[in-house]
Amino acid sequence: MEKQPLHKFYEKNRLERIKALEQAKAISAEDAALLEKGLVLPDETADHMIENQIAKYELPYGTALNFLIDGKEYVVPMAIEEPSVVAAASSAAKIINKAGGFRTTVSNRMMIGQVALMEVPDPIRAKTVVMAHEEELLQTANEAKPSIVKRGGGARKLEVRLIPADEKAGTPAFFVVHLHIDTLEAMGANIIDTMAEAIKPHLEEWTGGRALMGILSNYATECLATAECRIPVSLLEKNGMSGEEVRDRIIEAAQFAYADPYRAATHNKGIMNGVDAVVIATGNDWRAIEAGAHAYAARSGKYRSLSIWSKAENGDLLGSLTLPLPVGTVGGQISIHPAAGFSKRLLGYQNAKELESIIVSAGLGQNFSAIKALVTDGIQKGHMALHAKSLAITAGASGSEIDRVAEKLKQSGTIDLATAKEILKEIRG
Ligand code: NDP
Repeated sequence: MEKQPLHKFYEKNRLERIKALEQAKAISAEDAALLEKGLVLPDETADHMIENQIAKYELPYGTALNFLIDGKEYVVPMAIEEPSVVAAASSAAKIINKAGGFRTTVSNRMMIGQVALMEVPDPIRAKTVVMAHEEELLQTANEAKPSIVKRGGGARKLEVRLIPADEKAGTPAFFVVHLHIDTLEAMGANIIDTMAEAIKPHLEEWTGGRALMGILSNYATECLATAECRIPVSLLEKNGMSGEEVRDRIIEAAQFAYADPYRAATHNKGIMNGVDAVVIATGNDWRAIEAGAHAYAARSGKYRSLSIWSKAENGDLLGSLTLPLPVGTVGGQISIHPAAGFSKRLLGYQNAKELESIIVSAGLGQNFSAIKALVTDGIQKGHMALHAKSLAITAGASGSEIDRVAEKLKQSGTIDLATAKEILKEIRG
């Protein structure tokens, strides 16, 4: 990608940004024309997507620049309403780009379908019986969804988990069968649910229990993506603080988030700012990704930070983030929503594994920006400056008034709605 046209991207207006992306060959002329019209979701499509549809709820769609992931450059689409997230992602990606970029590893994409049984008379014996029928059960599951098998995917493995009764909590024992399913390029909810339901009657027969439900698990521990980065301290200096000091404070911030669930929730929310924005822009189910990420954060039995920051032997800052990322490149609304289709072309990913690499990198980059700001300037300085624009709009500013009100708000040092209204009144004279 040619970099020059993207110089000072944030200072351009919307149409200039689209032109710049086209000049940088990040998008085609057809997509530039599509973007100018605004990636509109047709009414008819929206009406078929959900029930009782009466309108479309829009979100701003931005692009984070400078992402270098496994040696490849990306312009990353982000659909999000919160100011400063796109700027923070771009700024983190710029530093990490200079440090060689993100490196990622992605596990095999195996999704989990659960069948829960209750009142199994002899769970230990039933486990042996079920596992003895593994091949038969996998065959039944695959016969229920032959098209995924034809494509090269399908049910691969069976696992039985015995969850004992908990008298204190008042919960009974559960006999849980996991189906591990290769859903290829799909997130696979429908494939998994179909297969889980298909094996339910056999499991009832072989365990003597009562099947409660068959459904995918969003705790996708067999579909993990990891992003790592290594940043020399020379790239970390900030406002008179040495790179070593910034590095050490980032590590302390990560230790605080590891130790304290109150902090971990906010630390992880910052990670999900980057993750969700890309997940939404690519037409994926962000509730599924959120649920999986927070369950993964609690995998030790205590809710902890999702990322790790440490010091390398040579003094570099090392960052690492692992997330369950069962995203798809087909299925759901991905092929239906024009914005999701555009994101696919913008990222130019080859498959769901590559999309996972991009998303987990966006999460790590976002986390880096947030904790770096927190331990240096404090988060409010940058955030409130960007928030000023939203306040200007809320106060009633339009057109060129928005920037003028936002600028005066920042200068006033009191960034709130009442001040924004006063400034607007002054400007309008
Ligand atoms: P779909 O059922 O829409 O799409 C998957 C289908 O795409 C496959 O069954 C397959 O159908 C087809 N396909 C085409 N090419 C490929 C390929 N290369 N690899 C795999 N499949 C391919 O979506 P999903 O099953 O992925 O389900 C996702 C949707 O389910 C999301 O909208 C999500 O919100 C929703 N959902 C989520 C739940 C949760 O997270 N708990 C619960 C229930 C629903 P074929 O082979 O027949 O052509």
